Amino acid sequence: MTRVFSGIQPTGEPHIGNYFGAMQNYVKLGEQYGKNALYCIVDLHAPTNPAAYQPELLAERTFEMALANLAVGLDPQQVVFFVQSHIREHSELSWILTLQTPVGELERMTQYKDKAQKLESTPAGLLMYPVLMAADILLYKADTVPVGEDQTQHIELAREIARRFNHTYGPTFPEPKAVYAQDALRIPGVDGQGKMSKSKGESSTLGLFESLDSIWNKLRVAPTDPARVRRTDPGDPEKCLVGDYHKLFSDDQTILEVYDGCRTAGIGCIDCKKRLMVGIERTLVPIQQRGAELRAQPDDVRDALEHGAAQARQIAEPVMDEVRGKVGFLG
Ligand code: SF4
Repeated sequence: MTRVFSGIQPTGEPHIGNYFGAMQNYVKLGEQYGKNALYCIVDLHAPTNPAAYQPELLAERTFEMALANLAVGLDPQQVVFFVQSHIREHSELSWILTLQTPVGELERMTQYKDKAQKLESTPAGLLMYPVLMAADILLYKADTVPVGEDQTQHIELAREIARRFNHTYGPTFPEPKAVYAQDALRIPGVDGQGKMSKSKGESSTLGLFESLDSIWNKLRVAPTDPARVRRTDPGDPEKCLVGDYHKLFSDDQTILEVYDGCRTAGIGCIDCKKRLMVGIERTLVPIQQRGAELRAQPDDVRDALEHGAAQARQIAEPVMDEVRGKVGFLG
């Protein structure tokens, strides 16, 4: 039996990189695996990033991320969709797994090293982050984890943590494996400065709930293939972020026409961008409408998360009972 687990950071309003890189895949996997697809907004992880963490915004960002996933079509009746801090067992299992995890292994994590070197004093929580991530997965005995390639090392560690626990206490956890969806890392930012990323600011991102006017204003001035200095110069759509975006938003016929038009200088960049806007509008308007409906009925979002938490608990509680027994706590 396959069981999928994925953690979603509560970063507030997601952008199209999140949508094509992760959220769309959650919907597809949900259709395939139903209640064996678990999606968790990982709010316990958020405070480990002091640069991005603001306590007064965390609840709102968690809610917004839940709303966004529902707006893109995640069905909370079909999958198990919940908030990490609503299930106390995440923290408890994390502690138990911490007891067996060598500090040296945690210190070797590339993301930890990158983040720690920017800080004057390193919180222990930053070091323990991958253990909590392992607990998130193992608490549900999930074996399949859709992630970006930047999480490969953490999933390897989760496998090692599962192996170590199983070796000490007997077979308990499956060793989870990473599966890679279309990678959000490869979706370029609209400013042309590498991947689309919230950390680079709004000039890099096209938000799922951003107004079409605002999106057009960014797109209009977005860099194109530098070879097209004049309208009559042919270009290469493979070297242009607008060309990349067409692959995400436009139908096959449009892609064929604009790619050919670009290579033969038959289409100007502004016209090419206008045609892209048609696809963006077709994709985003239904999501934005659904988002507005949910925003008008916030209890529907909260109810969905409560329902999800109840179902997550049904899986997590017996697993924790098993773990407590094996570790030797008095029942
Ligand atoms: Fe980019 Fe389109 Fe201009 Fe080609 S025609 S360089 S794909 S914006």
